Amino acid sequence: MLNKAKNLLETYFGYDQFREGQEEIIQKVSEGKDTLAIMPTGGGKSLCYQIPAMLFPGITIVISPLISLMKDQVDALEKTGIPSTYINSTLPSEEINERLSGIYNGNYKLVYIAPERLEVPSFLRLLKQIHISFLAIDEAHCISQWGHDFRPSYLQIKNLISQIQPKPVILALTATATPQVQNDICDLLHIHKEHVVMTGFERENLHFQVVKGEDRDRFLLNYIEKNSGQAGIIYAATRKEVDRIHLLLERKGVSAGKYHAGMSEAARNRQQEQFLFDNIMIMVATNAFGMGINKSNVRFVIHYHIPRNMESYYQEAGRAGRDGEESACLLLFAPQDTHIQSFLIEQSEMDDERKENEYSKLRKMIAYGHTESCLQQYILHYFGEENPPECGKCGNCTDSREQVDVTIDAQKVLSCIRRMNERFGKTMITKVLTGSADKKIKSFGFEQLTTFGILKERTQKEVSEFIDFLTAEGYLQPTDGQYPILTLTESAGNVLRGKEPVLRKEKVRISQIVEDNELFERLRELRRELATKEKVPPYVIFSDVTLREMSAALP
Ligand code: ADP
Ligand code: MG
Ligand code: ZN
Repeated sequence: MLNKAKNLLETYFGYDQFREGQEEIIQKVSEGKDTLAIMPTGGGKSLCYQIPAMLFPGITIVISPLISLMKDQVDALEKTGIPSTYINSTLPSEEINERLSGIYNGNYKLVYIAPERLEVPSFLRLLKQIHISFLAIDEAHCISQWGHDFRPSYLQIKNLISQIQPKPVILALTATATPQVQNDICDLLHIHKEHVVMTGFERENLHFQVVKGEDRDRFLLNYIEKNSGQAGIIYAATRKEVDRIHLLLERKGVSAGKYHAGMSEAARNRQQEQFLFDNIMIMVATNAFGMGINKSNVRFVIHYHIPRNMESYYQEAGRAGRDGEESACLLLFAPQDTHIQSFLIEQSEMDDERKENEYSKLRKMIAYGHTESCLQQYILHYFGEENPPECGKCGNCTDSREQVDVTIDAQKVLSCIRRMNERFGKTMITKVLTGSADKKIKSFGFEQLTTFGILKERTQKEVSEFIDFLTAEGYLQPTDGQYPILTLTESAGNVLRGKEPVLRKEKVRISQIVEDNELFERLRELRRELATKEKVPPYVIFSDVTLREMSAALP
């Protein structure tokens, strides 16, 4: 079987080797095992059903929500000599009828359909009359309520499977399944855990970076200028912001396209084509852009605002570097933007359980913005890989700022949370730590705590950011829901017992503020001295502002 598959790979597709995972997946389905394939975007999932489609005796049905992609795939297959067709709402009804009778007469090996078709009874009747040996379900995460793109019509698939006799072999494919979503797909489609094939999610050529505390417009213009001539996508959270950023670029003489759902379909298609054919190098877009777009030479993807979860982020950022060349994925992180996403969840019509789930996913996205560990490691860990290594090249891995020991501060925060019986959220904890005069604090009796006001020399903002940092680094575990309670983790216990130090990158890099080397060294020494005397971490003494003032005052 595999020899045959290899031959097909060469003769039809012109490739001489399978990529990671492809062979194993093809092997499993040819043995009749229902399989879940998890491979990153661009990993080559299509071949995993196109090749078996030619090995199976009957017809292969491919269910995909990406209508815009079906035509391209079918055109490509027809060119290589594999008889195939697609059926979706873009076709006039006579055309659909013609194709249906073609399917009935066995003219096609592969048939792509949109999931909505499964709600049409006459179509289901037709499917029962033909010989379907293989059913591929692309973007299979759409079947899970816990996925980031749930589509109710995907639930019809179960129904379809139960009606086809004999039961076809099933292959579910996705690029973005968290362990929770994987379980859900397996449960709903009755796939055994041992038939889940997951290839590495790592994309070696991508450099991740989180940009914080910068003027975003200025950063963007600079970045584009430095990388002029290269193709890049800039994602923004709303249509209004897409329009604004697009205008900003045009005013600075950068020719850019834009794409969002508020534009006419014709206008969107025009912009997309211009970008695909390198007539314009920059595309400013909402997340409506990119599904099913196969542009290989995208050199950077910049998220101007935080997306709603890591799945969306990795999918969108992953549109960079499909050709394997080094490419950058930047998140311009401003903690205040997270309110846009919270608001969208709050306004949505999801039930409470799903909302809670969305909030907790958003929090993990925010933690990505705060973390000081390897960004790629964070991503791989999120998608369920065990012990992923540090990448050595992301923004955090290459961040040369000094690490300062903030164990004492961490102990103060963690012990305060313990004193409060791990029953409160960030706002309340911050208030107690900074000794706020809030009436609520009185009513709870927090003023009696030994830890009350233990960080009163800091601002609420500083303390709140420090708590975010402790959360991102895994010392605190938030509960689900919109107003999460912070609880202590096992490593928090180690910190409290003095068994584990907490290190944090310096908040401000002096070299960014003071360019003169000698001056820089003097300031650094002065700061160390003071810190030792005051018994606090150096960054606490010098804020950005005081450093600036000091360097101005020094001769
Ligand atoms: P996915 O659906 O996983 O995002 P695709 O199936 O669209 O990825 O494949 C991405 C690209 O990789 C396509 O251009 C495809 O032709 C190419 N590709 C797939 N398999 C191989 C292979 N074995 N060798 C070389 N290129 C491949
Ligand atoms: Mg695909
Ligand atoms: Zn890294």
